[in-house]
Amino acid sequence: MVDRFLKGKTALVTGSTQGIGLAIAKALGEAGCRVAVHGLGDADTVNLAVAAVQDAGAAEARHFDADFLDPVAIEAMMGEVSNWGAVDILINNAGIQKTAPLADAGPETWNAILAVNLTAAFHTMRLALPAMRARGYGRVVNIASVHGLVASRDKAPYVASKHGLVGLSKTAAMEYADAGDRGSGGVTVNCICPGWTQTDLIEPQVQARTQQLGGGRDAGVADLLREKQPSLRMSDPSEIGVLAVWLCHRHAHNMTGTAIPIDGGWTAQ
Ligand code: NAD
Repeated sequence: MVDRFLKGKTALVTGSTQGIGLAIAKALGEAGCRVAVHGLGDADTVNLAVAAVQDAGAAEARHFDADFLDPVAIEAMMGEVSNWGAVDILINNAGIQKTAPLADAGPETWNAILAVNLTAAFHTMRLALPAMRARGYGRVVNIASVHGLVASRDKAPYVASKHGLVGLSKTAAMEYADAGDRGSGGVTVNCICPGWTQTDLIEPQVQARTQQLGGGRDAGVADLLREKQPSLRMSDPSEIGVLAVWLCHRHAHNMTGTAIPIDGGWTAQ
């Protein structure tokens, strides 16, 4: 039997103009959701992302704008999205990364990474969760990272933001665990914790390692993987999309407060 549970549900995927967010938006589109695409980018990038989500099968797709450095813009965007459709599924995926030793990171980098990776998710969740409770169904999937579970050097703001996101998600999971029932699907809050995944976000680190080794890009990638990810394979963004959609189905009503690694064994070590 074809499962039509997600058909027509409204999903907001933050940071879905590219990378993992776009892959999740496409996967939700394929499941028949109406998808609110969000993220930075020029008109071509935005139009291509919306078209890709539409082509995947979305009931509807539309771009919503907000710079997540600005909480006022986040609140305004949440109002616009909920006028378009009550948010059933919230994927907090927007994120930034910059590597530097803690003492060199500087307040500007700290503030920007915490704002986009953590504070923005607090705002979208506080604005979306009460209505999810009222409807008896809601899914929050926060794209954390292996760095929500373990640390790496030179990533203090990023690691702090992702550990914070895991903690925020657990608290929300507890507060909303009793909402709805098996039939309605309940309200759940989970994190997905990817390891190395092939997107633009990691390119500066790939380039830095490649230069350090003096070889080609493949040698740089192989060296990064050897250091942390035992599978020695990157994840493809679409693989994160599959898990996100799985978490949104009714069958996952009792799966809440988790932080699930997709990391080739990184955090098993
Ligand atoms: P990406 O750089 O390809 O995409 C990031 C998205 O966030 C883009 O759509 C961008 O427009 C949006 N964004 C960035 N700054 C923003 C701002 N100020 N306001 C609004 N939107 C903003 O990155 P990605 O690799 O697809 O990362 C997606 C998520 O996955 C991030 O939270 C990242 O931390 C996490 N993650 C990525 C990896 C990886 O290896 N790629 C690993 C673990 C976790």
